[in-house]
Amino acid sequence: MQRVVDIGRRIELVPMDPHFNDITIGLYRQNVNHGNNTPAFLVHTYSRISGAPERIEAVVEAMQVLGGMLKNDDGLLHFPCNSTHEAACRRVFLEACKLAPDTPAEPRPLNILDKKSRLTITVDSTGQGVYRVTTEGEGRSAARRISAIAGGLAKLGEMESVETDNRDTVAFACETSHDALVGLLLTRAPNVRVVLREDEMGAGRGVLSAPSQQT
Ligand SMILES: [Zn+2]
Repeated sequence: MQRVVDIGRRIELVPMDPHFNDITIGLYRQNVNHGNNTPAFLVHTYSRISGAPERIEAVVEAMQVLGGMLKNDDGLLHFPCNSTHEAACRRVFLEACKLAPDTPAEPRPLNILDKKSRLTITVDSTGQGVYRVTTEGEGRSAARRISAIAGGLAKLGEMESVETDNRDTVAFACETSHDALVGLLLTRAPNVRVVLREDEMGAGRGVLSAPSQQT
């Protein structure tokens, strides 16, 4: 008899892993992280290909570095603050899967060159989960870019906008700093609309290749 294990609810999917035999890798959310009653995340594949467990482990390790996540004794991932941060975790998972296996994962810096404005955008952590977006540029267009990128961070990381004149500040509700995570989200924040559209298309693909429909 086949052993049935409840691996949780799937919240993200890479239908074909470009770095390992096109296997399908899923991110699952479990409601109980042993030791405390907060959700935790499982990276899983149904593939039985030799080397698949090592590939999954590499993704888990990359998520720890890229997202500043922790791994518990069961191999489940969670954030140090014990908040769920589900949307952020999905982004960390997707970026970790994109990383070529021979490239060591490194936390992303808290600054980027914004292609659209050609400005260097920097995010300053002011503590307790509050982040302020700044740039060396001046004027209205720079200010608009800053508020757009702050808005992108807020959407991708499910962060809250902090009331400021420049709409340049966002914060995690958990009041905990997540520098690695913010660095990772910052790489996508300037293109947040494109990213969210890709997500919608990806969700459609995910339905077609759900594990329950695989043979
Ligand atoms: Zn947090």
